[in-house]
Amino acid sequence: MANKKNYKSINDIEFAVRIIPKSSSIKNIKLIHVILSFIIFSSLFLLVNNKNYLKYSNKAKLIKSEKDVRVLGHFPYQETAYENLIEIQPNILVHKEMYKSLKDMQDDAEKDGIYLVFLSGYRSIKLQKEIFYSLKSVRNQIASERARVSAPPGYSEHSTGFAIDIGDAYVREADFEESFENTSAFQWLKNNAAKYHFKLSFDKNQNSVDYEPWHWRYEGSIEALKIFESSNRTTF
Ligand SMILES: [Zn+2]
Repeated sequence: MANKKNYKSINDIEFAVRIIPKSSSIKNIKLIHVILSFIIFSSLFLLVNNKNYLKYSNKAKLIKSEKDVRVLGHFPYQETAYENLIEIQPNILVHKEMYKSLKDMQDDAEKDGIYLVFLSGYRSIKLQKEIFYSLKSVRNQIASERARVSAPPGYSEHSTGFAIDIGDAYVREADFEESFENTSAFQWLKNNAAKYHFKLSFDKNQNSVDYEPWHWRYEGSIEALKIFESSNRTTF
């Protein structure tokens, strides 16, 4: 009897309760697995590709810069309409919007004893073509050499009417020469041209076009600024 009781008491020991997860819990666990796997694989993928990204990012920058619109270092410019032009000196036409500033600059320089002479203003694309190709063949230069000192047709700031080549009336031998930078006219321009919204287009800091101390462009109107926006945006 006692044995039977013992047996019964043994049987009375509670069985371990087996908890069977509800189906929604299983789904949640699976979802967590999927998310964790995704995070781990994504991290690995990013880690591996980060090196490649850094390696090719510089190449991408190069490709981007290759897409720029310059030809032999010069930006394309449209020819301004003839009615926008006005004569500032015999045979020298400039854009009407630039006329007053340029005249004021010349007059104020004169007050300081500096005599600025205008060498070239507006040039049609046709004239630019003649200058570019005739000088090229006379000097027996290839296009890239020529482009360092003269823009190809369709790519000259002079076509816009907003560019002006300036000389010193007392040092004519320095016209269109780098030695113009040694004249008092250039020193005066360097110190004062910005007041009249003129800027040196081809300074010593850019390497695609030769330094032209005589070539200035006007940026004192919205139209002029729009025209030269690409050129100002690009860092050389
Ligand atoms: Zn010029």
